[in-house]
Amino acid sequence: MNLYSIYLKSSTQHPTPTMKQIIILFGPPGAGKGTQSELLSDKMGLYNFETSKILEKNFREAENLPENSEERFVKIDGEKFDILNEKENWKNGKLCSPPYVAYIVINEIKKLSKEENNLILSGSPRTIYEVEKIAPVLEELYGKENIKIILIEIKPEETIFRNSHRKICELMRHSILFNDETENLTICPLDGSKLVKREGLDDPETIKVRLKEYTERTYPIFDYFEKNGFKIEKVNGEQPIADVFKDILNFVK
Ligand code: ADP
Repeated sequence: MNLYSIYLKSSTQHPTPTMKQIIILFGPPGAGKGTQSELLSDKMGLYNFETSKILEKNFREAENLPENSEERFVKIDGEKFDILNEKENWKNGKLCSPPYVAYIVINEIKKLSKEENNLILSGSPRTIYEVEKIAPVLEELYGKENIKIILIEIKPEETIFRNSHRKICELMRHSILFNDETENLTICPLDGSKLVKREGLDDPETIKVRLKEYTERTYPIFDYFEKNGFKIEKVNGEQPIADVFKDILNFVK
């Protein structure tokens, strides 16, 4: 028996269990969910599931459709959603319709889980409706013990400060950390594209709407998680990015 057949034999007797894990990051706008998801994804090889990117792609596609095209509408449980209306909500800092988002997220997660992807979610769920639809799917696919929920906490003033100072790059949407050294930066240090503000989304009035949506509609999700036996870990988001990351790693490793 050569080494190869020994390996095959032992690997059939003791199949390596597939490590399945899903990390859900929560927190108010500007808490650092996007920043930390990218770090976690790089460090742990988890797939970074960005609801906002999927929504924005759908919005762009809908905008390019001929007027009155039926593809602009999505029918879910007998209700019809106009993707361009969803974009209006989004632009004004309002959450998109929960059934529309839940539908998109569940479809994507089901696809990804077939490819055995371990995931980080930082943009979903955002409402009780969504968590009631999405959490059971996650539980079925990953098992409750493999779902790690982390709340990154920052104060409302910090949300407003970070978002009103936020710059992203045009090409890849890299977020640039605001400090004395980056304050006057005009191009992205990673890809050289122009740095811009997120039009509408980071205007002071819109940030207030986003914060209100978070407090009234997203924060209550914690009750759901607690009542349903999920553990929630809290991390202080008002520390340097590397320290927030270290605290998160303590919970997910
Ligand atoms: P969220 O996804 O929670 O809205 P982001 O990760 O997009 O938050 O971060 C929002 C802004 O705050 C970005 O400009 C980012 O560079 C900055 N930021 C993120 N984490 C920190 C931190 N720990 N300290 C200071 N600024 C941060």
